[in-house]
Amino acid sequence: TLTKIYAITPTYSRPAQKAELTRLSHLFMLVPSLHWIIVEDSNVTTPLVTNLLHRAGIEKRSTQLNIKTPPEFKLQGKDPNWIKPRGVEQRNLALTWLRSHHDNDHHGIVFFMDDDNSYSVELFLEMLKIQPGRVGVWPVGLVGGLMVEKPLLNDDKTQVVGFNAAWRPERPFPIDMAAFAISMDLFIKNPQAVFSYDVQRGYQESEILRHLTTREQLQPLANQCRDVLVWHTRTEKTKLTSEEALQRQGKRSDG
Ligand code: UDP
Ligand code: MN
Repeated sequence: TLTKIYAITPTYSRPAQKAELTRLSHLFMLVPSLHWIIVEDSNVTTPLVTNLLHRAGIEKRSTQLNIKTPPEFKLQGKDPNWIKPRGVEQRNLALTWLRSHHDNDHHGIVFFMDDDNSYSVELFLEMLKIQPGRVGVWPVGLVGGLMVEKPLLNDDKTQVVGFNAAWRPERPFPIDMAAFAISMDLFIKNPQAVFSYDVQRGYQESEILRHLTTREQLQPLANQCRDVLVWHTRTEKTKLTSEEALQRQGKRSDG
């Protein structure tokens, strides 16, 4: 198949960034249908990302963009991560890029791929099954206070009739960003579909999906939503107390 999957990844500088992006870049090496739109939360594109794309040999299947989150929306040191939405600016820039560069590739698939989750290669084979005009959905592991958050299907397993979400189940689409991918034509038909800062905690997924689909139109994938092919893992904040001591002496371990 010639269908391309455009994976949109917001990313920002921190000690574990290179490790996270290396894991993802190796996934791209294994899945030829993937095109990576990697959007740095920064005023410039960085050599760290450019070199990484080069080392994985995927520069021709990548687009490196950058846009900095405005300071009023940026998390501060000790803020809990949920007080502000993350990746809004970056995902919207990627959507603008896609809408102007799709070259009539209305058959592409769009997926929002955070840099710290764990993805199976099999997930991308599932995405290739997404029909024109539809949004594919599947379970996500380790999210929302559950082992697995998943869509619930009707008796013949063809339609989504609900969700097992425990956290804010009243949301129009109570699913994680990693739980769906979208047929490109929907973004072209619905130019108003963008991410917004002006939404309640946990409503970012519902905000984008409400412009594009309904629950009834969702396309269940991953073995009738029984297989878990993506996990919402989160990397712990790196502790660098000894590194900071070294740097006070003008030295560093990675110098
Ligand atoms: N992100 C970003 N700038 C930030 C914080 C996060 O670009 O200031 C990116 C991050 O690299 C990830 C996505 O936004 O790809 C979602 O962030 P995170 O994984 O921290 O969110 P959570 O796992 O809590 O949903
Ligand atoms: Mn994350």
